[in-house]
Amino acid sequence: MATIGFIGLGNMGGPMAANLLKAGHRVTGYDLNYAALAALAAAGGRTAASAAEAVRGAEVIITMLPAGQQVRDVWLHQGGLIAAAVAEGKPLLIDCSTIDVASAREVAQAAEAAGLEMLDAPVSGGTVGAAAGTLTFMVGGSDAAFARAQAVLRGMGKTIVQAGGPGAGQAAKICNNMMLAITMIGVSEGFLLGEKLGLDRDKLWAITSAATAQSWALSNYCPAPGPVPGAPSNRDYAPGFMAALMLKDVKLSQAAAEATGSPTPLGAQAAALYQKLVDAGDGARDFSAIYRWLAAQDRATAG
Ligand code: NAD
Repeated sequence: MATIGFIGLGNMGGPMAANLLKAGHRVTGYDLNYAALAALAAAGGRTAASAAEAVRGAEVIITMLPAGQQVRDVWLHQGGLIAAAVAEGKPLLIDCSTIDVASAREVAQAAEAAGLEMLDAPVSGGTVGAAAGTLTFMVGGSDAAFARAQAVLRGMGKTIVQAGGPGAGQAAKICNNMMLAITMIGVSEGFLLGEKLGLDRDKLWAITSAATAQSWALSNYCPAPGPVPGAPSNRDYAPGFMAALMLKDVKLSQAAAEATGSPTPLGAQAAALYQKLVDAGDGARDFSAIYRWLAAQDRATAG
């Protein structure tokens, strides 16, 4: 069992750290948010007063932070985690946040220059997958580091795939989330149209989830309230996966599409729509609130 330092104990990091504890690992965590630290302590973990303190004695260091800026800050700034990790010997470094490929490579290069192994290992599966320990990890990094990470990643996920070298995990993740962003809007439009056509929501859900429209967004996070009891739509769109984070991800995929000349017209539409959702004040709601935003446009047009 490993001694793990875990930084970023939010909607995803909190349950991931709790599963590592359940799997028998020793976890010391740090977060800026006191409630997140209290939740780790309640799950049997130790809490630290700084990121550097959390990684003292760690064999593995994991970060689960919002975006590239926080990841660069925490790992690279003066007295950051890479410097702290060097002082601890040769812990394995794993960043599970979803960030831009360039930041992932910058941090991995700094780790390599310091003689440390690092993986980018973003996840898919949402807060439900994080709590159930069934996440999919998309991993970028060397074969040796990938092999070394197995025991720890298995404590948090079910499917662990090596996508390629440094940054490849993040590349796979932004492709995945662009697909998800588009699908969620498609499911929302389908349910709004179904309502206009007089269909019962539960029946439409039962039919489409057994037909060719079946998707993760439909089955697990149905944006129309009702059919999926555990979905954010049934708790006033409390996240889940915040719309602001989805907007970050579709912006990342659009930036990558522009840089590579890849045609993503629906990705561009999705980015524009999630931007409107965030501008309307719903950035901290689940991204499936795009259904409610679309419904409001309908009422605005009708009114
Ligand atoms: P979150 O905002 O709930 O959690 C992030 C945590 O990081 C917060 O608790 C925050 O206080 C902490 N934090 C920020 N800066 C910090 C710092 N400098 N030091 C210590 N702690 C700091 O976000 P989340 O939903 O857990 O998402 C985390 C990452 O996982 C994001 O990159 C997101 O895109 C990705 N992700 C989220 C989901 C999801 O369904 N929520 C699914 C897959 C991937």
